[in-house]
Amino acid sequence: MWTARRPSHRGNFKLHQCIYCLTWKPLASFSKEHVVQASMIGKTREPLVLRANDGIVCLACNQAFDRAFDRKLARDTPEGFSRVYEGLIGAEEFKTFGKKSSVRAEVKAGKLAGKQVWVSPQPMPSQFALHEIVEPCLRFTSGDVIRDYQPDAVLSHQQLRADGIDLRDGDKVELIGIEYELVAERLRGLGFEGPSGAPYPPEPFRMSAEVFFGVPPELLRCYAKIVFNYLAYVHGKRTALLDVFDDARAFILHGTQRAFPIVAPMQPLVLRRGQQEVRSIWLSVEHANGHVVGQVCFYGRIRWRVTLAAAPRILLHRVGHIYDLERWCVELTEEPPSPFFGEAVPGRRPAALTRSSGQA
Ligand SMILES: [Zn+2]
Repeated sequence: MWTARRPSHRGNFKLHQCIYCLTWKPLASFSKEHVVQASMIGKTREPLVLRANDGIVCLACNQAFDRAFDRKLARDTPEGFSRVYEGLIGAEEFKTFGKKSSVRAEVKAGKLAGKQVWVSPQPMPSQFALHEIVEPCLRFTSGDVIRDYQPDAVLSHQQLRADGIDLRDGDKVELIGIEYELVAERLRGLGFEGPSGAPYPPEPFRMSAEVFFGVPPELLRCYAKIVFNYLAYVHGKRTALLDVFDDARAFILHGTQRAFPIVAPMQPLVLRRGQQEVRSIWLSVEHANGHVVGQVCFYGRIRWRVTLAAAPRILLHRVGHIYDLERWCVELTEEPPSPFFGEAVPGRRPAALTRSSGQA
């Protein structure tokens, strides 16, 4: 049986309970929480917002989410790439996490065949910019001796001699690697003068590659948070505070998975209005198969199902919203196509949960 948590008063000083950490705090400790990150929606659309004045999500949780996954979602993820393809930002504004990127490509042919690269989007969805993963290294040329070093393992002249490398006058220290400036600065700090070299690669060229999107565990928490935010938005804070959602809360806050797989991928789904495809962000919550289940789908590319609780009767109806890129955010009043509200099948561990590639 579930119970509702009660408000607390200490004198005139009313405290509010955060729906995530469950801590009681004064209103000043709460902040505005966007149901879907503003960065994913664009500036002109009316966002669904949990208002600070309603005391729903505390500032500490809000900031923790920002550090843990909110910024990550807008960057090198399928959803982050979509921001470029849907025109929310220009390709030149796109930021990755570099070597920590969860997006990888394997080059099939050409100069870099067989190599792993990381990827950033171009305005055309069929094109990517590929960046070779190059560890900056040093190449010492003293006679026949050539040694490569990782940037963190660069040695001073003295240490190099102890290591059997006798750098003589006129020997050159050559740099290759994409982080040229960084390595040059480090070398100067170690007493090397005028390190020479050039950034790599020197010029762009075309190649074909297979692109893999990894799904880091913290992103699964991010999808779960969006859906839980949405639950609080459409069913209210009292519902969100029910203890049946404690497992979902623990997963979002700390990544602890106690129950069913909370987040699972589903087939992408493009909403159609008549013959026309509608590129949009969809959100829904409903009860299905005795579970409270939400879905979030970004631009018809990837759809995530989030199981929030095993509780058959606490939601009376299904609710959906759509952020249409041509229109404002609207509540779904017409019956959506049936795959959108797919049946929940908890208990099966999806492939995406085990594929946490790319995280350093
Ligand atoms: Zn909190």
